[in-house]
Amino acid sequence: MKVPFVDLKAQYLSIKDEVKAAIDDVLENTSYILGKYVGNFEKEFAKMHEVRNCVGVSSGTDGNHSVLWALGVKHGDEVIIPANTFIATAWGVTLCGAKPVFADCHPESYNLDPEKVEAAITPRTKAIVAVHLYGQPADMDRLSEIAGRHGILLVEDCAQAHISEYKGRRVGGLSAASSFSFYPGKNLGAFGEAGAVCTNDDELAAKFRMIRDHGSHEKYNHLVLGHNYRMENIQGAVLSVKLNHIGKWTEQRRKAAKLYNEGLKNLEHVTLPKEMEYSKHVYHLFILKLKDTETRNKLQAYLAGKDISTGLHYPIPLHVQPCFSELGYSRGNMPVTENLSECGISLPMFPNITEEQVGYVCDTIKSFFMKN
Ligand SMILES: *Cc1c(COP(=O)(O)O)cnc(C)c1O
Repeated sequence: MKVPFVDLKAQYLSIKDEVKAAIDDVLENTSYILGKYVGNFEKEFAKMHEVRNCVGVSSGTDGNHSVLWALGVKHGDEVIIPANTFIATAWGVTLCGAKPVFADCHPESYNLDPEKVEAAITPRTKAIVAVHLYGQPADMDRLSEIAGRHGILLVEDCAQAHISEYKGRRVGGLSAASSFSFYPGKNLGAFGEAGAVCTNDDELAAKFRMIRDHGSHEKYNHLVLGHNYRMENIQGAVLSVKLNHIGKWTEQRRKAAKLYNEGLKNLEHVTLPKEMEYSKHVYHLFILKLKDTETRNKLQAYLAGKDISTGLHYPIPLHVQPCFSELGYSRGNMPVTENLSECGISLPMFPNITEEQVGYVCDTIKSFFMKN
């Protein structure tokens, strides 16, 4: 049996007619940038995330940048972000001319460890970016309390966590502002690049709208500095259709995670992902932690030999990436993140994964441990 890491084709086939009709409508109306589908999507997406405003942008990375830019992050500021995240979280900071300051992750949630965040605060700290990594919300109450006490901003990177919940509340409106990615492989994926920024602050939302459209609120009148971060109407059309299905797709991911947890329980030296008591995890990724790198690498090769594709998230932590060498970090600075990068493996996870496929992955992992 073949088990891909993600299967975008199966999802496409399940909505093919609906999505083609919507794209066709955009083509017939020749309204390619922003437009009625983007406007509709913004309203529906905001409602779904229990937040007042959503502004469609051109990618999650551009969303990360827009959030910090609109909030006034600039050269000389420091912004605390997890060492354990995708690099785009850091680009949001560097594009503002500010300095990323890394904090290690918590050994159970794999998200920002509030104690490490507090220890990283300096007089220059302007903001904290809480990333809801792998689909599980960060510990927002503790991070809010720390940010409030030090008078610094808290924002969210929700690129991997559409409709996930923290203490029963959807992510995206739990801080000053948030960004989402609709990269095709994300839990809600466009047919190309797209993203969004959300906020409960109407004035900030107006600023987001200007920033994404050359700093203007009306054509050729540029009130603030900006960029071209607009969402395409075709992506708005695709996302509007897909938004009707994300509840079901998320439940399918959670079901697959449950099957993995049942199929792999009691395996010695295998740590299953922990769903924290405060969260509803949406399993963008399902990560196992093995006892050491050698076992991890051998398991990955073994699974590949049995037609099972896996991933590593992330093999090189941000604080030791060559592009950040000038920041002066080294191996040993972020032990929890480093351990995860060395011993973690991401199993196939997508809404249309079948019970048979999950069962086959579990059986193959068990057969590996009988031999090793
Ligand atoms: C994917 C991702 C982004 C960037 O999104 P793009 O749409 O690919 O630019 C940002 N942050 C995290 C945590 C991500 O996983």
